[in-house]
Formats: sequence, structure tokens, C-alpha cells
Amino acid sequence: MKEQYCEWCGSVLLENGRCPIEDCVQNVILDAMESEPKQESEEKRDESNQTV
Ligand SMILES: [Zn+2]
Repeated sequence: MKEQYCEWCGSVLLENGRCPIEDCVQNVILDAMESEPKQESEEKRDESNQTV
């Protein structure tokens, strides 16, 4: 498997895509993305359901 590197600090990312540096911008962004566009992804799910 290909390792992914944090674009902010260069550390090897964890399996879940988070940076091992807990304070890293990478983790802040991931947290922000998780809390915000939940509704959007549910809408997309509905669309794909209709298509199938
Ligand atoms: Zn990082």
C-alpha cells in the first residue's frame, strides 16, 4: 500500500487519514470537514439511490 504524507508537516498519515501530530492543520481540517458537509453527503446518497 502507498503511504500518504501530511502536506502540512510531512509525517506519514495514519490509516484513517489523520496526521500523527494531533495539533497539525491536517487534523483541524479533517475535523472541520466531518462536522460541516454531512447534509451534503446525505443528499448525494439520495441522488445515487434514485439513479439505481
Ligand atoms: Zn501533519
